[in-house]
Amino acid sequence: MYKLRPYQQEAVDNTIKYFQKKRDPALIVLPTGAGKSLVIAEMARIARGRVMVLAHVKELVEQNYLKYTSYGLEAGIFSASLGKKDWDQKAIFGSVQSVARAPEEFFQGFSLLVIDECHRVAEDGDTQYQEVIEQLRKNNPNICILGLTATPYRLGLGWIYEYSHTGELKTEQQRFFKQCLYELPLSYMIKNKFLTPPVKVDIPVTCYDFSELSDKNRMYTQSEVEELLKNQKRLTPLIVKNIIDITERFNRQGVMIFSASVKHAEEILSYLPEGEARLVVGDTEISERDEIVQEFKDKKFKYLVNVSVLTTGFDAPHVDVIAILRPTESNSLYQQIVGRGLRLEPGKTDCFILDYTGMGHDIYTPEISDKRPAKESVPVFVPCPKCGFENTFWGLTDYDGDIIEHYGRKCRGAEHDVATLKVTPCGYRFRYKLCHACGTENDVTARACEKCDATLIDADSKLKQAKLSKNAHVLTPDKITFEERLDKNSNPYLEVRYYDADAKYLSEAHFFSNQSSFKKFQINFLRSHLRRPELSTAMTTPQDVIKYQKLLRLPSFVIARKQDKFWKITEKVFAEEL
Ligand SMILES: [Zn+2]
Ligand SMILES: [Zn+2]
Repeated sequence: MYKLRPYQQEAVDNTIKYFQKKRDPALIVLPTGAGKSLVIAEMARIARGRVMVLAHVKELVEQNYLKYTSYGLEAGIFSASLGKKDWDQKAIFGSVQSVARAPEEFFQGFSLLVIDECHRVAEDGDTQYQEVIEQLRKNNPNICILGLTATPYRLGLGWIYEYSHTGELKTEQQRFFKQCLYELPLSYMIKNKFLTPPVKVDIPVTCYDFSELSDKNRMYTQSEVEELLKNQKRLTPLIVKNIIDITERFNRQGVMIFSASVKHAEEILSYLPEGEARLVVGDTEISERDEIVQEFKDKKFKYLVNVSVLTTGFDAPHVDVIAILRPTESNSLYQQIVGRGLRLEPGKTDCFILDYTGMGHDIYTPEISDKRPAKESVPVFVPCPKCGFENTFWGLTDYDGDIIEHYGRKCRGAEHDVATLKVTPCGYRFRYKLCHACGTENDVTARACEKCDATLIDADSKLKQAKLSKNAHVLTPDKITFEERLDKNSNPYLEVRYYDADAKYLSEAHFFSNQSSFKKFQINFLRSHLRRPELSTAMTTPQDVIKYQKLLRLPSFVIARKQDKFWKITEKVFAEEL
């Protein structure tokens, strides 16, 4: 009948184990080409009750149904646009639009709901999905809900589930899908030859400059992109010529070009060889689109230009060049685009990736939902000192690849109770803001204490207030120095000076003579100055601090207030608080 690949079996096993204990909706992340239909088939086969498999477009319903029945399994279709409304089979493949309108009797006997492309449920809180789920739960309050997707990360929304299968807390916001049960990275598929390896081709000609968009961390608006392209219009013919050159020189079979807008696509098309190129945009008639796609698959023409319509569900295995001429906001979007060229095809050994965006995405980079703090930051692995979980944060590394600094704030690890599957987040904070009222550790940007709701003054208002006050001074340091000095009783202490660009400075003293002064130093200085706050340090004397000063960072601002005749440093503001 069929045989599961080892990872498919693992995905199924994890799912069974989970639903034996829990009934919160969960999902599986499988990249294109991972054979999700086999996972669906196996789940449907072993489910005790009936199984409903939902998708949002008829093509997907049909595709899933055909794959399923090709294993010799019996199933029905419930989709008005496919002209079928089956009732009785154990497995029903339906389009959500039709199923949402089905009469109540239809929803009887189901024990498992599978939602394909399930990121859509989270994305717009799709009410049709909710209607179906409500009906199913009315008939069976214990129904298991399993989602499948290749793209569990959405721009503007972030992760669509709360916990990963390794116990990583992905978001602290509520999500419909609570947990990811299994996740297979694209790299696994490539390494194990289930997908064609992508080859990033160095671009000899110039790239577009989309750097202005890079740090926006959201979807770009059409006008933003068009404005940028207008000023770089002269690059398009050069880029297209480069695509043609490479395609011809290496005798490539199928080229997909991703453009930024309809206008941009039409321009690209005008530079491509006549009769060898066609265009699919958002409002191309479905029948025309189907025809174009079919002719492309039949290799009747070589270049297919599209504007963000062929990113999911599209499948032309012969594609061996992917040209990206549109800005890609996220790694997952980039992966989706590249994924269009990775299907296996006899005779195809690799797929060229021509990236003209200059944005530096990479299919092997993990998605990090935090905003990238600086261009030179890279993903780094930081083990949690409390639970040992290996966090992926943005950070800086030295030439040897050792972490110098990272920007993580809170551990994303969680403890999974194997007996109950209950998840308890670790909660360790690398950086935090202490509540002055109750001592709770809050996020550095929190406005109110999460425990007692006391107002926490944010850095911006602190700075504003200080700049307006006659008795306060705000210094922007660009250098920090450490010096050991002796007080009048000959006890050593540490003097820290913050110099600004004009060599003006503010200073503070730290003592190490007893436990309580040492503790004060830890709380008032080390906690915020350490580049890697999780490293417990043995800085117990001024000499230690001087020796290890490379581990310490500068604040963005130092605020001092006049006390008698002296300026005393009262607050420091660090980059992450702004
Ligand atoms: Zn932890
Ligand atoms: Zn508090």
